[in-house]
Amino acid sequence: MYHAPEFKQLSEEIRSATATDVKKALTASRLNLDNLTALLSPAAEPYLPQMAALSSEITRTRFGKTTQLYAPIYLSNYCTNRCVYCGFSADNRIKRKCLTLDEAEKEAMILHGRGFQHILLVSGEAENAVDVEYMEAIALRLRDKFAAVSIEIQPMSTAHYRRLFLAGITAVAVYQETYDRNLYKKVHLSGKKTDYNYRLETPARVAEAGMREVGIGALLGLSDWRAEGLSIGHHLNWLRKQFWSTAFTVSFPRMRPATGEFEPLQTVSEKNLSQLIFALRLFDQDVGLIVSTREEARYRDGMLGLGPTRYSAGSCTAPGGYGDSNADAEQFSVGDHRSLEEVCEVIRKKGFDPVCKDWDRTFQVMAS
Ligand code: SF4
Repeated sequence: MYHAPEFKQLSEEIRSATATDVKKALTASRLNLDNLTALLSPAAEPYLPQMAALSSEITRTRFGKTTQLYAPIYLSNYCTNRCVYCGFSADNRIKRKCLTLDEAEKEAMILHGRGFQHILLVSGEAENAVDVEYMEAIALRLRDKFAAVSIEIQPMSTAHYRRLFLAGITAVAVYQETYDRNLYKKVHLSGKKTDYNYRLETPARVAEAGMREVGIGALLGLSDWRAEGLSIGHHLNWLRKQFWSTAFTVSFPRMRPATGEFEPLQTVSEKNLSQLIFALRLFDQDVGLIVSTREEARYRDGMLGLGPTRYSAGSCTAPGGYGDSNADAEQFSVGDHRSLEEVCEVIRKKGFDPVCKDWDRTFQVMAS
């Protein structure tokens, strides 16, 4: 079982790192958690250009010139949790919708027609709307149409993840939101999500179920982003030791405007986000790093080749939003509104290769 280090202590360790620690990290051949601590520190800020250059070099060596592309499909905005920062929170008076199986397939086929081969099925956390049977039925419908079908829904048991894996789901993303245990209690007011430990143990249950890929991350804008980054590093380090054959990704969702009154508790600038991405790339050379359409086009274009390996594109965060442009009740408003083709064009212009299919289901059949 994974035990997260004390958040406040991580925060203090980061702030005590010196320029000497940073230089040591920049010349280390294999980085440890002490090196990551230094790279996330304020002392590392003057070294951002060196971090960017190293991150770029490692990313090209490990991933070539590729940038993977995917799109999310929001299945449902019903949620039984009350998370103060989210537009789908049970408290918010929004129009609720859960797609039928036919509607979900229709949304998926719209994205298929636009060229997507990797989709991420997202929903609020309400088992009476989206349960394992519903997800299994959707997976069985879509498994032969897409190269990769990932999910980001409520945490489940290992047995349920196994069922979904056998039905065709290839990856699961579950973000801790914040590794700051004290703050976690304050921003998750009610519902199953109030159980910090159950959520923390979810990535291990996903890996135990045999999923090909597990995504972790923290919502940036709640607590100290540096300590969130180091917490992710600790979690990733532990997961890698337990599940050597599983692929891992890290996402960096920065808070966006959403329904409700909530304002981010911390400011996380683009410079901060870049430092976090470079530090994690240097720490774990093989981890997939995802930057979604929460970020603006200008930033995403600038980060191409510098560390991130996967971008979402042409995204809509309202259930049914691809087929119905009037669909409302988005989870958050996106920062990059370009289509897949427009994003691909920029990727190509910058000398990189957009990749819509990086996996074939045949491998999954072999694994199961
Ligand atoms: S963050 Fe997730 S669990 Fe929390 S209210 Fe939003 S959809 Fe529900």
